[in-house]
Amino acid sequence: MGKPLELKTIALGGNPNSGKTTLFNALTGSRQHVGNYPGVTVEKKEGYTSLDGTELHIVDLPGTYSLTAYSQDEVVARNFLTESKPQAVINIVDASNLERNLYLTVQLLELGIPVCIALNMVDAAKKRGITIDAEKLSSLMRVPVVATIARTGKGKNEVIKEVIKLAEETKGVYKFNISYGEDLDLVLKDMEKIIIENSFLTDLYPPRWVGIKYLENDSQVIAKGDQCEQSISQKLLSIVERVSKHLESTLNTYPEALIADYRYGYIASILKQNVIQRQYDINRLELSDKIDRIVTNRFVGPLLMMAIIYGLYQFTFSYSEIPVGWFEAFFGWLSDFMSGRLPDGLLRSLIVSGIIDGVGGVLGFVPLIMFMFFGISVLEDSGYLARVAYMLDKVFSIFGLHGNSVMAFIVSGGIAGGCAVPGVMATRTLKSRREKLATLLTVPFMNCGAKLPIMALLVGTFFGENKAMMMFMITLIAWGGALLTAKLLRMTIIRGPATPFVMELPPYRLPTLKGLFIHTWERTWQYIKKAGTVILGISILLWAMMTFPGLPESEKVRFENMRQFEEKSALPSHLQELKSAEDGTTSVLSPTAKLLKQRLAKIDGQEAEQALGHSVAGSIGIFLEPISRHAGFDWRTNIALVGGFAAKEVVVSTLGTAYSLGEVDPENTDSLGETLKKSAGWSPLVALSLIIFTIFYAPCFVTVVAIARESGSWKWSAFSVLFNTMLAFSLATLVYQIGSFTGFLAG
Ligand code: GDP
Ligand code: MG
Repeated sequence: MGKPLELKTIALGGNPNSGKTTLFNALTGSRQHVGNYPGVTVEKKEGYTSLDGTELHIVDLPGTYSLTAYSQDEVVARNFLTESKPQAVINIVDASNLERNLYLTVQLLELGIPVCIALNMVDAAKKRGITIDAEKLSSLMRVPVVATIARTGKGKNEVIKEVIKLAEETKGVYKFNISYGEDLDLVLKDMEKIIIENSFLTDLYPPRWVGIKYLENDSQVIAKGDQCEQSISQKLLSIVERVSKHLESTLNTYPEALIADYRYGYIASILKQNVIQRQYDINRLELSDKIDRIVTNRFVGPLLMMAIIYGLYQFTFSYSEIPVGWFEAFFGWLSDFMSGRLPDGLLRSLIVSGIIDGVGGVLGFVPLIMFMFFGISVLEDSGYLARVAYMLDKVFSIFGLHGNSVMAFIVSGGIAGGCAVPGVMATRTLKSRREKLATLLTVPFMNCGAKLPIMALLVGTFFGENKAMMMFMITLIAWGGALLTAKLLRMTIIRGPATPFVMELPPYRLPTLKGLFIHTWERTWQYIKKAGTVILGISILLWAMMTFPGLPESEKVRFENMRQFEEKSALPSHLQELKSAEDGTTSVLSPTAKLLKQRLAKIDGQEAEQALGHSVAGSIGIFLEPISRHAGFDWRTNIALVGGFAAKEVVVSTLGTAYSLGEVDPENTDSLGETLKKSAGWSPLVALSLIIFTIFYAPCFVTVVAIARESGSWKWSAFSVLFNTMLAFSLATLVYQIGSFTGFLAG
């Protein structure tokens, strides 16, 4: 091999899901290996490819949306770019999400590295009616652009050809600047001068880039600058401080936000020049416009929105009532049937109280969930949900949130029946960290699918006449609470200006029946699956906590004696009657036998209740009762609420178990709602207080984990648990105390 090795290093960068891995595999085939970046555990994939005798060493960077220092992936990606100095970057962008993808491109270019754009997924974009003029994009951004379909390998050789040419022509350096407005441009010029004169970090980064990073308050670069030359770093920071104050007073913004605005502005100005063509059905678009003129009208829009949401609740609660009744009757029957078949003891208790009453309580709401999901699917598939987001955006900015927050709220159950976990993940679309945090911390207040059964149980039992109205109020309370909390946070611990938002409304579509059924079923199935797996597990665990260690022997003996006393003082014929009733040979009892039965049952009930109080969970509930009493919650409700931290569905299932363990009347086939209604200590007021508490208290465990991941810190998760619980408790106490004082809803 006499010929000199012309090895070039090329980095492959792009947003997550842009097809990076697919392209990397297509380019390198089997000539690749996986390791870690030096010093960090982020995966590093590298491989080789060649074209016409030129060897390329390709390094797959972590997928990122940006090159800030907010996440480890971003830091790894840009450290590689600045330290290993690849000759060029292949920047893979998703053709149907150009605006978001080009944000990274701009940052790559600012780093001074030649970029070749692989415009990927043009096939998928085309299917969505989007075509991109690659040549135009290339000439406007002054970088090579090659259309690719990574999945089939189409365009991969052209990419290689272009990137080799680019690396040779540029010799690995590229100068690219965009304007950040008069204020910042002037400051950047000053900073650049200082940086160049002092050779400050210039061996690593382009001078202007360092200036931008100081303006963006980039902790990593500032730390490096401090190490390099403290005095220069201080000088730059004082310039930043000066301009920040100026921006704050003149534009009510700060450098980082302004820089992001200008980057998006730059991208928007390019895309506007006929780079993107959308082929929507023109008629449909016109019709949509006409509909929107009414539906999103400033006055009619909000009223219509309220009416539609109210209608959704009306539909859900009224139509689901009968099938929910069937489900409840079935689980009631099953519970009785198993009670009759299984011998008295732990196994029966586990199956009947732990599993059937626990999981059954959750599954009983399947019809309601299904109706709700069907309604939501209609709103979503028709395109109306996007209009809701559009209208609410205006309201959101008042509370320090962003238009992109709206979708996160709706996904979390803003209308009903979502889940805070995808809601938390949906905050990734928020570019401002402050707006993202405020959104993250308030989406758990929405009525997720797991809270729905609790609401349905309480509303159905205690506010039977006005179910839809009550559900509507709950929604308003959740939104009001979320918005006010967001405002509070944005005025205190996460202060900062708002960022602008533009939203494109998709055309209206008539939902297809098939689509509706698929969406409804997918969501319902998720719910059922969760009930059968996670909830089942937690139910059993909680049952065990509610059963063990159980009553001390002496107490058991005492109750046994009481029973024997009753039996001894009864007539044999009456005892015989009871026995036949148990075997199912008779079904009608004489009045005296009935009384005897009730007395025996009462003893059983007392024993069960005492045993529950003695259990692990019972002790926790009782321990909390002196506090929770202020909000109207007894120790049994406390058990359910503590269990609800594992998953919110568990509140219903635990109430089911707690009240069936302490069942006073064994013949009782009452649903949980009826049992609660009859129990002392429950009233519409307690139900309302519990509803308020449920809306606001700690997010479930999985959401807490998601918050930590998205915010990058467990600190915010801990905050969310503590803050929400305190808020919930204060509000519930307030409601309960005012209600008790005025006699409102005391029923
Ligand atoms: P990464 O996260 O950037 O590594 O993205 P992947 O390579 O894992 O690709 C994400 C998804 O997009 C996968 O399901 C790919 O099969 C798909 N994909 C990648 N390139 C294309 C393409 O050009 N067209 C289409 N239709 N799908 C693609
Ligand atoms: Mg990948």
